[in-house]
Amino acid sequence: MRALGPAQPRSGAPVIPFNKPYMTGQELVNITHAHANGHLSGDGPFTKQCNAWLTERTGASSSLLTHSCTAALEMAALLLDLVPGDEVIMPSYTFVSTSNAFVLRGAVPVFVDIRADTLNIDEALIEAAITPRTKAICVVHYAGVSCEMDTILAIAARHGLAVVEDAAQGIMSSYKGRPLGTLGDLGALSFHETKNIISGEGGALLCRDSTHAERAEIIREKGTNRSRFFRGQVDKYTWVDVGSSFLPGEITAAFLSAQMDAAEDITERRLAIWDRYHAWAEAHEAAGLLTRPTIPAHCTHNAHMYYMLLPSLEIRTRFIQDLREHGVQAVFHYIPLHSSPAGLAHGRTGSDMSVTDDIGKRLVRMPLWIGVEDHLPEILAAADRALVG
Ligand SMILES: *Cc1c(COP(=O)(O)O)cnc(C)c1O
Repeated sequence: MRALGPAQPRSGAPVIPFNKPYMTGQELVNITHAHANGHLSGDGPFTKQCNAWLTERTGASSSLLTHSCTAALEMAALLLDLVPGDEVIMPSYTFVSTSNAFVLRGAVPVFVDIRADTLNIDEALIEAAITPRTKAICVVHYAGVSCEMDTILAIAARHGLAVVEDAAQGIMSSYKGRPLGTLGDLGALSFHETKNIISGEGGALLCRDSTHAERAEIIREKGTNRSRFFRGQVDKYTWVDVGSSFLPGEITAAFLSAQMDAAEDITERRLAIWDRYHAWAEAHEAAGLLTRPTIPAHCTHNAHMYYMLLPSLEIRTRFIQDLREHGVQAVFHYIPLHSSPAGLAHGRTGSDMSVTDDIGKRLVRMPLWIGVEDHLPEILAAADRALVG
């Protein structure tokens, strides 16, 4: 293990990174085809292929590829016709885009605490955060593990609220057999290079039923009916609604299509790594040194990340530092949005936030990427030493 020390680059950067994008090898072949097709803007053959893959796999009534999950969330916020002062209930332990998308429409994020087991929004706290201005609940499936959707959908139905799923981390995961991103009215996926299925930057908006599908297509095409025009459904192409440019180009879609073809294999390989971390961590959990992630029995997950909860911020800081000294990059995750400068300026809390505040200080994520399996003996030995000295 010590031999890793001198092998480190002079910058001191870890030898084993937290993330490393996996490429199947087919990406360049597809890009060559896209090049030969001569169609480089959005909605070419590869984009259509990716959308078809998503609708077939998820059962969503429509899938629209976007240039990011952030874009898909912004489209969701536009589709909900939010006006300034409307409120959207969401967790605070999430990426900034969950909240930004709604703040851009003048809406107020109302942050609700998370469950201590899945780290997903605590469904038992949602109802008390609802006010006459509440328009939607935006859930986040942390680590690709589903929120308690039956309860959340029932609350939404009772109060006439829309449900948006930030399923950025959730591709290939399911809740009671149903794919994440298709349970709420709208679902946003990410294909950012840090996710499981990637295209550098990329995303998709899933519409569960046809209610939003037609308008989503217009919003994504700068507020025009260009897509209908190209299908010959209207004879003029014109400005019909608000919108922006949310499409990825064909080169990106060509890359993504290769990844989608390998999605099963990618998921299996990630799960094998996740399982090894989980088996290794069992004894440490039994010894009270950490808490392992919880996967509810009715959920399948995609091994998006392997996180652990350490006993305190001090222990986590030392753990990350110890691993770094052994060439392993382990990282913490979100600074809770409710206590961030923009969260304080644009949002408010809708519950006590003690679990979020606590978890935010104790969570650490281990390297998980295809190829890291070859380094697991070193990583686990370094982690053993960091945990038990
Ligand atoms: C990655 C991520 C996003 C943003 O995805 P982009 O495709 O980079 O815009 C949003 N929400 C969550 C929970 C994420 O993990």
